[in-house]
Amino acid sequence: MPKRSIDTRLDFLSPLRLIPGLGAKRVAALEESGLRTIGDLLHHFPRRYIDRSRIVPLEDVREYLGKQCTVVGSVTRTRVEPGRKSRFRVLISDETGSLEALWFHGIPYYRKAIHSGMRLCLTGKIGHFGGFQMVHPLMESLGTKKHRPDMPFLPVYPVSTAMREVNLQQKSLVKAVDWCLRNLKHYPQILPRCIEDKKGFPPMSECIRSLHFPQDLSRLESYRERVRYEELYQTALALRWNRRKFALPGRSMCRGDMVNTVRKALPFSLTKDQDRALESLLASAEASTRMHSLLQGDVGSGKTVVALLACLPALNEGYQVAWLSPTEVLARQSRSVVEKWLEVLGVQPELLTAGRPVAKQKAILSGLKSATIRFVIGTHSLIQERVTFRKLGIIVIDEQQRFGVEQRLALQAKDPAADFLLMSATPIPQTLAKTLYGDLEVVTIHKRPVGRKPVSTHYVPKSKRAAMEKFIAARIENGEQAFYIVPRIEQSDPEDTLSDSVTVATRLRKGMLGAFPVGIVHGKMSNEQVEDEMKAFSEGKTKVLVATTVVEVGVDVPAATIMVIENAERFGLCQLHQLRGRVGRGGGKAYCFLPANETYEGGVAERIRRFCRTEDGFEIAELDLRLRGPGEITGTRQAGFDELRFADIIR
Ligand code: ADP
Ligand code: MG
Repeated sequence: MPKRSIDTRLDFLSPLRLIPGLGAKRVAALEESGLRTIGDLLHHFPRRYIDRSRIVPLEDVREYLGKQCTVVGSVTRTRVEPGRKSRFRVLISDETGSLEALWFHGIPYYRKAIHSGMRLCLTGKIGHFGGFQMVHPLMESLGTKKHRPDMPFLPVYPVSTAMREVNLQQKSLVKAVDWCLRNLKHYPQILPRCIEDKKGFPPMSECIRSLHFPQDLSRLESYRERVRYEELYQTALALRWNRRKFALPGRSMCRGDMVNTVRKALPFSLTKDQDRALESLLASAEASTRMHSLLQGDVGSGKTVVALLACLPALNEGYQVAWLSPTEVLARQSRSVVEKWLEVLGVQPELLTAGRPVAKQKAILSGLKSATIRFVIGTHSLIQERVTFRKLGIIVIDEQQRFGVEQRLALQAKDPAADFLLMSATPIPQTLAKTLYGDLEVVTIHKRPVGRKPVSTHYVPKSKRAAMEKFIAARIENGEQAFYIVPRIEQSDPEDTLSDSVTVATRLRKGMLGAFPVGIVHGKMSNEQVEDEMKAFSEGKTKVLVATTVVEVGVDVPAATIMVIENAERFGLCQLHQLRGRVGRGGGKAYCFLPANETYEGGVAERIRRFCRTEDGFEIAELDLRLRGPGEITGTRQAGFDELRFADIIR
């Protein structure tokens, strides 16, 4: 893979993979918990602390019988007791007495780590069995010199199942956070200094450090208050920018002939809804205030073309366009459609992603700076500080719920007068939209282009799985294609043959669909591999594509009419709806199958059944909202609420 050049300077937006010890699997596990950047990780605060601030002399441990305490002593003896219930005994002593530590599990590890003469800090419950004991205490080696651990309060982080599965537990998290704190050169200054001074807040760097690794607990609340205040401030700021009455001056940009020229060259004509949405956006572009609009519409409602046409006033007036996509796959796809549609204007869109060759990236950066490049589509790479524009007219953010407020602000900062167009396929229920976006102009495409029929969605019981595959085989014979979506890349449980792409692909190749070429796409493949696989599938060379959710957003293959989602219970309804929207784009009848699994329980099955019955994205969003709460609406990040990681909205 080409060397990544852009992320050399560590900041809050840097990806987690830069942290030593975090390989792809661990990064994926963190991402599953919504932690994508170093800033996210640093905002993943401990739930509590293990208090090791008081070191109890060994003669006093009797006072702690049945209770937890921390002791320090030198190892005077170690002994492995073999047998069926083997154990490792370690005797430690200080000037006042001694205590035995006992391990039943992980003996090889402790045996290797603990030697006579070294000092240990042990935290655990005091028991009595012949003498005073600690069974499986928390152990930290102090070497030969130290008398107390460096961290008097050991953080205890929330750890998700996915994190546990890749052995990403307390110690690794402490290490990762510690590394970030030591290497981070720059903390974003979000609160203006005047507020910081007025409130007497300690600097953010101190707050973050002390919340992770406090030296004492007395100031904890003041650190927490600052972090909360900052999160609310940030949200308030974003909301305020959305409010018309605060609307800041922008540019008045006219459509010229461009809109008509491009419309005439399109292979279809706009629907009434699209036309109405477009006119409203063009009016915003022409107004002298800054456009700040949200274009929302269900999956497949045809937002891309409307957004593209809404960029034309900027091009017409000689300004540049920046188009942000959440994934590399989607960025590439958007680039290829935009390229096609802009051909009549002779405008060539460029692609900026971390996966592109360094020389190419450099050329694009300089082209953007000098404005020889007029249209750029990119992923997170676009947000980096070194990307500068000579005259940026409009910023488009596709799948905006995938980006945080911070990232949107960073883009806006590239040209404060630039128009701002957000797109979302996750319709936000009206009540929530009001809360989140204030007076942000919401432009909605209600109906999909005609010719698109609802995707016929079925919950498939175990007994019908073979029939389903037979059905799929017949459709493929007929020239159609199928997606198989799975939640994981690799197998984690040998019993589970339905959750990971590799196993499912192997099973399909051996089974009823084995007669057809089966492709595979997942987030661990290189960009070239993903692109090759996507290309093979979109050209119909492979008939079945087994994929993780990398195909979730935007991917458009007209011949794909069947979507099978394994382990659907692991996805949120909105995410299922997005996935379902990937099929039936060619106008033919399309199917979505959700094969059942033993693990489906009452509530889950009901949730899936209700999903099968409705095609209406708004209704699904409401359902998801009611079932899972606002932060989970998309199964990913939802604008606004979950950026308040620390500040409880109700508080
Ligand atoms: P989404 O709103 O989910 O981003 P897209 O913009 O990707 O949807 O559009 C989905 C598909 O519908 C694309 O293949 C697009 O070319 C097609 N499309 C968009 N508008 C129309 C239209 N007016 N008539 C026919 N097809 C259209
Ligand atoms: Mg889209």
